[in-house]
Amino acid sequence: MEKDFKGKVALVTGGSFGIGRATAVAFAARGANVVVADWIEDEDEHTLKQIKEANPAVEAIFVKCDVSDGKQVENMIDQTILKFGRLDFAFNNAGIEGTQAMTQDCTEENWDKTIGINLKGVFLCMKYQLPHLLKSGSGSIVNCASVAGLIGFPGLPAYVASKHAVVGLTKSVALETAKQGVRINAVCPGVIHTDMIDRVTGKDKEVEKQYISMEPVGRMGQPYEVADAVTFLCSDAATFITGHAMPVDGGWVAS
Ligand code: NAP
Repeated sequence: MEKDFKGKVALVTGGSFGIGRATAVAFAARGANVVVADWIEDEDEHTLKQIKEANPAVEAIFVKCDVSDGKQVENMIDQTILKFGRLDFAFNNAGIEGTQAMTQDCTEENWDKTIGINLKGVFLCMKYQLPHLLKSGSGSIVNCASVAGLIGFPGLPAYVASKHAVVGLTKSVALETAKQGVRINAVCPGVIHTDMIDRVTGKDKEVEKQYISMEPVGRMGQPYEVADAVTFLCSDAATFITGHAMPVDGGWVAS
């Protein structure tokens, strides 16, 4: 693989599992040093080990951070700059699905927690990342939305609202930074086979089939397929793309 990110620094939130882990590894495979952030310490360091396997030449660190807490997000960026002296790419990916319930049964607690992580978390990350990207006049941020940021789903009011808001926030920040060389985009994954989907389906084969039936390609996506879209959006192959919410969804929103 071409090491076109050599010398660059990439930060991935929610990097201990799923889409975040695959993207941290993909950044490393292209030559970037990587900061893996997550709110729970991955004691076996699976992501850091996979990064080393993908590219022994890069450096990677883990920073513990709950993205819904401004102080922890500020510390995550401080640790990044302390270690690597720069920040070029960020994938603001940490997110939760929340609890499934119709709007009248959605608790305030579920609403606040889901919005706090999925939306405020993305805002806080960009708030503390942007000064470093703007200072260098280059770089790229990708926020993790969802197909639920483009179309509605019954029974997931907080999740759907948070992801639609991530798309709106992405577009607005892209306009703020467009003339300063910093690009901001979002990815909108469909059904991607991760722990999140296993929690939602309960690994029940019949429920999995229902989710797969919503995918025109007839299968779930894999985390690396989202990672490839994120690294594409950060790369020099995407220099004219900003403010875009890219479905990575096997054709779901086209159907
Ligand atoms: P995942 O397997 O559950 O991974 C999410 C990661 O984020 C986990 O490591 C999780 O830690 C971490 N995290 C959760 N809350 C956090 C917080 N407050 N601060 C820091 N880290 C936190 O889920 P995934 O499927 O990879 O999802 C990643 C992103 O893709 C999410 O934003 C999700 O909404 C989005 N997405 C996923 C799908 C899908 O089908 N999988 C579809 C559309 C969009 P713990 O596991 O320790 O809680």
